[in-house]
Amino acid sequence: MNVTRFAPSPTGYLHVGNLRTALLNFLIVRRSDGTFILRLDDTDQERSRSEYADAIRADLSWLGLNWDREERQSDRISRYEEAANHLREEGRLYECFETAEELAFRRTVQRKLGKPPVYDRSALSLTDDERKRLGSERPGYWRFLLDHEHTGWTDTIRGEVSVDAASLSDPVLVRADGLFLYTLASVVDDLDMGITDVVRGSDHVTNTAAQIQVMHALHGSIPNFAHHSLVTGPRGEPLSKRQRDISIRNLRHIGVEPLPLLSHLAFLGSNTDFRLCETIDELAEAFDLEAFGTAPSKFDPADLDRLTARYLASLPFEAVAERLGELGATGCVAEEFWNATRENITHFKDLKYWWSVISEGAVPEIDERDRAYVEAALRLLPGLPFDDQTWSAWTERVSQETGRRGRSLYLPLRKALTGRTKGPEMSVIMPLLQYVGRQSVS
Ligand code: GLU
Repeated sequence: MNVTRFAPSPTGYLHVGNLRTALLNFLIVRRSDGTFILRLDDTDQERSRSEYADAIRADLSWLGLNWDREERQSDRISRYEEAANHLREEGRLYECFETAEELAFRRTVQRKLGKPPVYDRSALSLTDDERKRLGSERPGYWRFLLDHEHTGWTDTIRGEVSVDAASLSDPVLVRADGLFLYTLASVVDDLDMGITDVVRGSDHVTNTAAQIQVMHALHGSIPNFAHHSLVTGPRGEPLSKRQRDISIRNLRHIGVEPLPLLSHLAFLGSNTDFRLCETIDELAEAFDLEAFGTAPSKFDPADLDRLTARYLASLPFEAVAERLGELGATGCVAEEFWNATRENITHFKDLKYWWSVISEGAVPEIDERDRAYVEAALRLLPGLPFDDQTWSAWTERVSQETGRRGRSLYLPLRKALTGRTKGPEMSVIMPLLQYVGRQSVS
């Protein structure tokens, strides 16, 4: 049985980058009937906000990525304390006293000398007296003593990965103010919660090498790791530099639908053929973690509009009846309305306009030069009831009387009746227009 977790820090909104992480972890479990944990990495009390945690929950729920259990790191501090003590006893955690300025200065010197800016472990050579003196001046912070060896794992996406731990700074696990840092907290959680698979962004690859060493030091068993490529903007630029807001709440606000968004992310950067899935189960069957590549994945929000339009066009009436009801579209006309419009909308909210055309009538758009023409044409409009032949019969008659053809015949009439230059076929709109102005269209 697989146990995975999505571990956001509640310091901002969910966006397409971290949603992909959530989705891949969710799909592993969805396919295997395991446990998906939402873990809030909220040890940093200054930056974590409960409104972000609420927003993350709301976004995941809206997307249908339901979690089996929620954990909060802020509830687990005593476990981190125990683990830190264990590491101290094993001689794997050592106290340091450098200030941030000292460390920054040393890194600058190292860079100038062409050396990697790796912590030089000078705290290890402090004498007991020096340690005592420094300890009386300021509180110490704690680093994990890495074994300077190659640390490797078989990454489900990247294949064999090996990191030379000698090229890494010993990671800080406990800050001078006592705060347990991500590397320790995450490892303790992953071990305690029996996490079997960790899928996360490739920015965590070096963390993983250090975390594997911490896991060994805590005598834990190592989960499977998979590091997916980073998501960038359409020209390879970092997502954070993009103008358009790619937070999930904004995409939702714009009108992007969950399944097109999830389908897009489950195949973005993967060799598997894209499939616009109708259900999350279908997506869980179709996605393949091993098929993801390591090159950055380019994401263009415009694709989501295109996919949402395609998805909506494919939905049967039953799938949207309730939402149509919320717009006021109920009764037998609702299905007719949906079938007339579904291929002509980008987002569901576009229907608001079309429903107002059907229920209240459009505000006609008539160019001055077409006014006489439109008035003459309207006088030729057949009486009720309208059916799918009404438009062709009417426009043929209008053409005979006015001599107009093509665009100049149709467009002014479309604009007069719908207020728009584009939209559903007029032959399917006409039967719906006979309901305009009725108290009830059911
Ligand atoms: N809170 C970490 C992050 O958002 C979690 C990373 C992980 O999956 O371990 O980057």
